[in-house]
Amino acid sequence: MKITRMDLADTGSPMGLATKILSVEKDLPIPVPIEELARQLDIQDIAALETAGFEGGLLTDEDRSTGIILVNQTAPAGRRRFTIGHELGHFLIATHRPVESGKFLCSRADMANWSLDQTDRYARMEAEANEFSGLILIPPPALRKFIPKGDPSLQHIPLIAKHFDVSKEAAARAYARYHQEEIAIIVIKDGIVKRAHKRPTFPWISVPYGKPVPKASVFHAKDQRSRVASKLSAIIPEHWIDLKAGQRAEMFEQLYPQQDGYALLMLWLEVEEIEEEDDDRTSKERFRDQQQKWR
Ligand SMILES: [Zn+2]
Repeated sequence: MKITRMDLADTGSPMGLATKILSVEKDLPIPVPIEELARQLDIQDIAALETAGFEGGLLTDEDRSTGIILVNQTAPAGRRRFTIGHELGHFLIATHRPVESGKFLCSRADMANWSLDQTDRYARMEAEANEFSGLILIPPPALRKFIPKGDPSLQHIPLIAKHFDVSKEAAARAYARYHQEEIAIIVIKDGIVKRAHKRPTFPWISVPYGKPVPKASVFHAKDQRSRVASKLSAIIPEHWIDLKAGQRAEMFEQLYPQQDGYALLMLWLEVEEIEEEDDDRTSKERFRDQQQKWR
């Protein structure tokens, strides 16, 4: 590798950093050798993290001349790689400052924090470190070749996870963001909506995080023990999203049960724009009419 931190001196955003690294390291192998990359970028050592309840840490000095990345060694390989990418993100993004001087400590909840549009400085820092890790471990140009044209399917997720040596959730996030169809992938644990990964253009998910999966969802109709992706089935979009006035849409769901009560649920939306004068019903009235039609 020939990249140095000098090459990254003027860059501070996760996308900027990942783009610069990929432009200098054009032949970066897949799976990305994340430990080698970290050492190339002045990380002196990668060692075991012994602090219970945390996934990763970064020890560094005030001017970031060097750093030591700490990783929870009991985590599965894909997650350990993600943690290294995350800590490397903290190291490279100059504005990131730990709570305790010289020492970042990151929990599993921090690693699940993906929402970049938040005002809390700490939460935003964690989301940026995740964003960087996702981009460097699953480089978008390499991913594109891996998303076949046509119908989206959760069956592609384990193939991506294996190819890039990342967790299924990291693969699901990249898949949802870069698929050309309008999709979102909901992460469910024990019937509760934990978070959603979606294309930037996908509408806001109206079911709040921490609330149960809507009763109408295919989630409740499938056997959670069968670890195969279900077929697509139709659902009224308003169970998951609010449509704008004059908008009609079809939505399909696909369920993929995982271990330990986890499941991935894909939402695939097809919006059809309709002239507004056609329809002066409120969104609630349209929902009711549509429900009657489906009954
Ligand atoms: Zn962190």
